[in-house]
Amino acid sequence: MSRSESTHNHNEQSSPPLRKWSMDDFEIGKPLGKGKFGRVYLAREIKSKYIVALKVIFKQQIEKYRLSHQLKREMEIQMSLNHPNVLRLYGWFHDDERICLILEYAHRGELYRELRKTGHLSEKKAATYIASLTQALAYCHQKDVIHRDIKPENLLLDHEGRLKIADFGWSVQSKSKRNTMCGTLDYLAPEMVENRAHDYAVDNWTLGVLCYEFLYGNPPFEAETQKDTFRRIMKIDLMFPSLPSVSREAKDLISRLLVRDSSKRLSLQKIIEHPWIVKNADPGGTCSVK
Ligand code: AMP
Repeated sequence: MSRSESTHNHNEQSSPPLRKWSMDDFEIGKPLGKGKFGRVYLAREIKSKYIVALKVIFKQQIEKYRLSHQLKREMEIQMSLNHPNVLRLYGWFHDDERICLILEYAHRGELYRELRKTGHLSEKKAATYIASLTQALAYCHQKDVIHRDIKPENLLLDHEGRLKIADFGWSVQSKSKRNTMCGTLDYLAPEMVENRAHDYAVDNWTLGVLCYEFLYGNPPFEAETQKDTFRRIMKIDLMFPSLPSVSREAKDLISRLLVRDSSKRLSLQKIIEHPWIVKNADPGGTCSVK
């Protein structure tokens, strides 16, 4: 790869010094995964020996699906965020064919994999993840970023088991109400499946869906077809199976988030203060997750 044509670095204080990156600065290691538009590799920056994840995206693919604008937006948003529960984007570079994102390495990979492996999570783990997510979302909301595509596949874990929100592909930076239908049906709030205007409260709904999925192993409105999921969301057809056994406090939190009227959903501050979170969440965000 030729030396990169341009320099793009995070401009917050804790960022590495502004510099031009290129593929020559990295030793490439094992592939970590494959996404919709490219591959992710373990890599080491040669000078500092700093371990990162390099996401390599082919420009042709991005242009084919007319996603240049969205990718640019995703990168700008992620570069501006600096929080322990949001995956860092340290910088990026490109050549004629590829765009490479220099990402924080999440050693334990997808939370989804952990969930599938164990079926469902303990209340301590679930509460720790929900508290971490809530703190990350409070940070994002404060910066006027609504994520809108939070789901287990977009949640990664670092070497200590700390949750990291990744993939800002559908996020949007806006103070006004939005009107675009996007995201995955199972995690969508009623106002989104109905294509009505929505705001920050869509992420609070998703926290309720995720809390349920962490504890029971499946999202609450899962159905055979998209149409049935749509119907169940619209009816708020929420049922708590008797197994696995889940505490009354956890069900209380879920019921206060999966509320049709978005203004009546528990606020992020109230989630952090909820008795179930206070009792179960590890304040360090790792709950010595093994
Ligand atoms: P993506 O293209 O973002 O969907 O990434 C594809 C897959 O690569 C993900 O599902 C993860 O398993 C893995 N992956 C992506 N980013 C990272 C990262 N920063 N650290 C570790 N694994 C990652």
